[in-house]
Amino acid sequence: MGRLEGKVAVITGGASGIGAETARRFIAEGARVLIADLQGDVANQLAAELGDNAAAVRCNVAREPDVKAAIDAAVERWGRLDILYNNAGFGGASGPLVDTAVEDYDMTMDVLLKSVFLGTKHAAPHMKAQGSGAIINTASVCAFEAGIGNQLYSVAKAGVVMMTKTAAIELAEHNIRVNAVCPGYITTPLAAGRPMGENEPERVERALGRLRERNEDNQPLHRAGEPADIAGMVLYLASDDAQWVTGQAMVVDGGLLAGRPWRDVPHWVTEPRDVAIYRPDA
Ligand code: NAD
Repeated sequence: MGRLEGKVAVITGGASGIGAETARRFIAEGARVLIADLQGDVANQLAAELGDNAAAVRCNVAREPDVKAAIDAAVERWGRLDILYNNAGFGGASGPLVDTAVEDYDMTMDVLLKSVFLGTKHAAPHMKAQGSGAIINTASVCAFEAGIGNQLYSVAKAGVVMMTKTAAIELAEHNIRVNAVCPGYITTPLAAGRPMGENEPERVERALGRLRERNEDNQPLHRAGEPADIAGMVLYLASDDAQWVTGQAMVVDGGLLAGRPWRDVPHWVTEPRDVAIYRPDA
């Protein structure tokens, strides 16, 4: 019997990277999964590949009607909602604050932080009615240390950690657990700087290969982080093994935040990447 047998999950940003690997893992553990992603075609393709226990909807997590519709679609299809994984994200506005346009600030916060509020707001009523539920949010090591990622990205992810805690104490009365996972450097299209919508498999694979090589030295554990490393933690938090765990921000980073590796690492640098802002509706 799978660790998520009979459970229904919604995964935002489930078409790629960490979200896609988590969708695969959840299905393998017996869950039914609705993938909600801005890349509707890619999400549909993955759902078709995963079989009858998967479905997909196009969703911009920065928009309340989209988020509500995605959650309602899962409940309508499978009659319940046990797990919400608020995971969609992007690099957000980059560069100095003094050069950042207010619209880019707003969009960064909308996609990375408001989305978590919206998901929680619309999932909680279903979970309250059932008397149980698990909400998991993707934050980042950037929530704890400045200079690893873009400034506003880091600010938003720190907000995700605090929203995890505030929601956890609000919803504990209803047996709804809320936790965050905080990944280190993970080999995904986002971290490889792939432009949104770039799905040409060979180019993506080449970019991931280069990133994996660069990332293997970055942390004490001497290999690059992979989506499966994060999916394992998300699975734990979603499962009944974690039934007394709430309000936590679980760091999964190969030891990055613990300190510098002992070995001689010539290129030990954390270069803030320039991830160009994109406009979901452009
Ligand atoms: P990814 O690009 O592979 O996947 C992100 C997914 O989110 C994509 O499918 C994209 O279409 C979707 N998305 C982006 N904006 C959206 C929106 N407005 N509405 C709906 N869907 C949207 O990247 P990933 O690395 O798997 O990222 C997943 C999460 O992990 C993000 O929240 C990211 O910030 C976080 N994270 C990643 C790393 C890393 O090193 N890769 C480290 C720490 C945290």
